[in-house]
Amino acid sequence: MLNIVLFGPPGAGKGTQSARLIEKYNLMHVSTGELLREAIKEGTPLGQEAKKYIDRGELVPDDMVIGLIENLLDEHHEFSGIVFDGFPRTTVQAQELDKMLGAKGTDIAMMMSLEVDYKELMNRLVARSKLDDRSDDRNMSIIENRIQVYNRQTAIVIDYYRAQNKYLAIDGMGTIDEIFDRIVSGVELYTIKK
Ligand code: AMP
Repeated sequence: MLNIVLFGPPGAGKGTQSARLIEKYNLMHVSTGELLREAIKEGTPLGQEAKKYIDRGELVPDDMVIGLIENLLDEHHEFSGIVFDGFPRTTVQAQELDKMLGAKGTDIAMMMSLEVDYKELMNRLVARSKLDDRSDDRNMSIIENRIQVYNRQTAIVIDYYRAQNKYLAIDGMGTIDEIFDRIVSGVELYTIKK
């Protein structure tokens, strides 16, 4: 089973590259951001609670997102692997993910972190804000806060996977194709090692 964490700050291209990855390797895409936005649309109690955090660009509390992943893994028994996009975002989430996958007899193969410089991130997020209807892409101060939250609370998750020898930095600058080629090389490297 090929379970991959696609990591990186907002605007790094996790969603775009996840879509390609799942197609090439026949994997399931799991984005906690998308699951939360669905819950908000449906007006569930979890969605209503999560919206307060998302609209400020803050992280939703760990137990809420961990619960979402738990439900999802319970519902899907047959999968050849998962691309986790936007999860885990804290070390607690990473630890819980290991436990949940361990209980299913599987684990994370690798964590690939898309590295993009601050100016390019801002350019991409500003461009995206004109195209989508995400409430957290709406204004510059929320966008900036999300990048700060990444630096302060999420980037540290790299250490967790580095300690397990699963961390791989991917240059996230360039065209979508160029970045995808680097990701594929990373996956091939892992499969050869196995
Ligand atoms: P994303 O679509 O991944 O950029 O996520 C959008 C927003 O949803 C984030 O800014 C957070 O407020 C929330 N969110 C998504 N995934 C997580 C997570 N794993 N932990 C905490 N909050 C999350």
